[in-house]
Amino acid sequence: MNDATLPRAVPAHVPICQFPESAGELVVGGTPLSRLAARVGHTPFYAYDRGLLAQRVEELRATLPQAIKLHYAMKANPMPALVGCMVALVDGIDVASAGELKVALDAGADPLEISFAGPGKRPSELRQAVAAGVLVNVESFREVQLLGGIAAELGLPARVAVRVNPDFELKGSGMKMGGGAKQFGVDVEQVPALLAAIVEAGLGFEGFHLFAGSQNLRAEAICEAQSKSYELALRLAAGAPAPVRFLNLGGGFGIPYFPGEQPLDVAPIGEHLGALVERAGRELPEASLVVELGRYLVGEAGIYVTRIVDRKVSRGQVFLVTDGGLNHHLSASGNFGQVIRKNYPVTIGNRCGPGPREVASVVGPLCTPLDLLADRMELPVAEVGDLVVVFQSGAYGASASPQAFLGHPPCTEVLV
Ligand SMILES: *Cc1c(COP(=O)(O)O)cnc(C)c1O
Repeated sequence: MNDATLPRAVPAHVPICQFPESAGELVVGGTPLSRLAARVGHTPFYAYDRGLLAQRVEELRATLPQAIKLHYAMKANPMPALVGCMVALVDGIDVASAGELKVALDAGADPLEISFAGPGKRPSELRQAVAAGVLVNVESFREVQLLGGIAAELGLPARVAVRVNPDFELKGSGMKMGGGAKQFGVDVEQVPALLAAIVEAGLGFEGFHLFAGSQNLRAEAICEAQSKSYELALRLAAGAPAPVRFLNLGGGFGIPYFPGEQPLDVAPIGEHLGALVERAGRELPEASLVVELGRYLVGEAGIYVTRIVDRKVSRGQVFLVTDGGLNHHLSASGNFGQVIRKNYPVTIGNRCGPGPREVASVVGPLCTPLDLLADRMELPVAEVGDLVVVFQSGAYGASASPQAFLGHPPCTEVLV
């Protein structure tokens, strides 16, 4: 490789070390990539490494206080086998639709430890939630009224927590989901009236849910949001009809996707939560503190694998054309909430060793310039038949992509 001829890219991606390499190939779940591709039978596919899922939860538990309940927000990755794996690792599952609720229940999650959030819950979904006995994070006055009727009709208690739209946001988050005017939860100013409506409707109040934002890499910002969430819940608890049993402080733990980003340091969050747990022991003695995480638990354990079907040079620029792209992995193409498109970490999974490198773009098979998996990245020199790997792909991948767009085959997901 002649370093001098390569354009010196802007800041680099954080090194991806979670997948070992052997004989020039990436190893996933103990299997070299080309053998795994043969086992799957076709490309493209997603592969999730169950050993890495377990390792992530184990490391996090070692850092967070024991009393913290760790929930998995399954919208990050709802693959049933993976959810089954997560059910065995975490303390509860957060679902956001009746479809996700079914997957969580099928996977063996304890209904007492499932919570159901999301704006626009349909009456049929609320009915399913009450019948299942899960905790509903109510997000409107309408939901409270509907739940009152459903509980009476079914002769079952309706367990509810109030999802609060706080008067602050998680600073520096990829996606803000609280603060200001939002479709999520009920504005903190309206919570006293909502609590009164909950009593009126005869629902079983169990706590509060606050979720200030997502994809944050700054421990300090997360700690600040957790403190503010705790203070707010404590204030609201004074007017609650029953003791707080669940206080869901949200999540927002991010993973590094783009050049220049550094992994989140969870140690200060663990220390900070330790102090909150101690306070809660005095101030909210019946409450479990919950942290709900999606991508932090599963994102780094997954890769997307797509095969090169063509190699072209256009006016001096190399294009590696693959058999999958935006249709399976919208977020890596830069079209899932990113303001400025940046590259995910990408490599050629069967050419890991030393060898010639070049600057190339990886594009999918769709007839749109949006179908771009890597824009002018330095990669091992690759040929038709090689396997492109997109790292950090365990969350918001297959289920968050428009698989029908352009009529290519859907991708497979495997847990290895
Ligand atoms: C999306 C979502 C999550 C998970 O977000 P991640 O960024 O994947 O951790 C957690 N809680 C709620 C309420 C959500 O909507």
